[in-house]
Amino acid sequence: MSRQTLTAILPQKAEAVLLTSPHNLRYFTGFSGGEGVALLCEDGGYLFVDSRYTTQALEETTDVTVIEIHAKNREEILQKHLSPLKSIGYEEGQLTVGAFDGFLKFAPKSDWIKLSQDLEELRMVKTEEELNCLRRAEAIGAEAFLAVLPQIKIGVTENEIAAEIEYQMRKRGSSGTSFETIVVSGYKSSMPHGKPDYKKIENGDFVTMDFGCVYQGYCSDMTRTVAVGSITKEQETIYQTVKEAQVQGLSTIRAGVLGKEADFAARKVIEDAGYGAYFGHSLGHGVGLLIHELPNLSPRSETVLKPNMVVTCEPGIYIPKLGGVRIEDMVCVTEDGIENLTQVPKDLLIL
Ligand code: ZN
Ligand code: ZN
Repeated sequence: MSRQTLTAILPQKAEAVLLTSPHNLRYFTGFSGGEGVALLCEDGGYLFVDSRYTTQALEETTDVTVIEIHAKNREEILQKHLSPLKSIGYEEGQLTVGAFDGFLKFAPKSDWIKLSQDLEELRMVKTEEELNCLRRAEAIGAEAFLAVLPQIKIGVTENEIAAEIEYQMRKRGSSGTSFETIVVSGYKSSMPHGKPDYKKIENGDFVTMDFGCVYQGYCSDMTRTVAVGSITKEQETIYQTVKEAQVQGLSTIRAGVLGKEADFAARKVIEDAGYGAYFGHSLGHGVGLLIHELPNLSPRSETVLKPNMVVTCEPGIYIPKLGGVRIEDMVCVTEDGIENLTQVPKDLLIL
């Protein structure tokens, strides 16, 4: 996690790279304050922050020069550092048009090179330090889920379950959720990313819970679906199909495999069972400082999986009006398979 990793793109692609997103600031400089501008070159770099962050930036960074900026000197300082550069890489996927124009005016003659994809690729393979954060983040989610399970019963609302999951994660050291907690039940479970509300859990409902926390900047992600009361034969078939697809996906993931091959292995189980039309999304995605990052495990992903990439495996079947099931684990790719970071049973649980 340092400027050193940028040698893969500097100076070949650009003379310097301008970073503004909280995750890239953190990854490439160590600064976790979230707000600032980094300008990194092959042989040095600067981190511009305002007075709220100066102390933190000085403490957290080692190989950049921290410069405090304020309303009066901001333009002058950025002008001084940006204008001599012939080419400047930037995060086109993160900057608004307005914010980009604000930087462009300091170096209108420079080549501005889009580097969002390159920067994301540099973050794909995790260091041991990052893996430890991801392991802990996922463990917090798992512990929270197991603590909440006894409270899932007929009459409880989705909102209550969502609140309880978030509370239990906070208590265990999470600094927040990695995305908006999903708790959907009954007919609503057919919406893969539906929102929890005042709907009460009813007899025969599937309850799908997809949630994650943030631990030392790193995200977790897991999904479990449980059933409440008595369910139909078809619900049981759907559950077992998703579970089998998930296991097939997991057993395909290893170093050297293409993202699309993992997707195919899981998708085939669902298609063979006749539910192919009800699995619309990709099998999984990378996780790190962002909840969704590279690599993708999608039907078109040509990315070759490498050891220490962290990805999710989350097939689902969603049938309008009837309901849906998704099961998601977060795993670390190894030479000969995976390390599953999600230590939670996935046999059908009927509460
Ligand atoms: Zn998820
Ligand atoms: Zn996910």
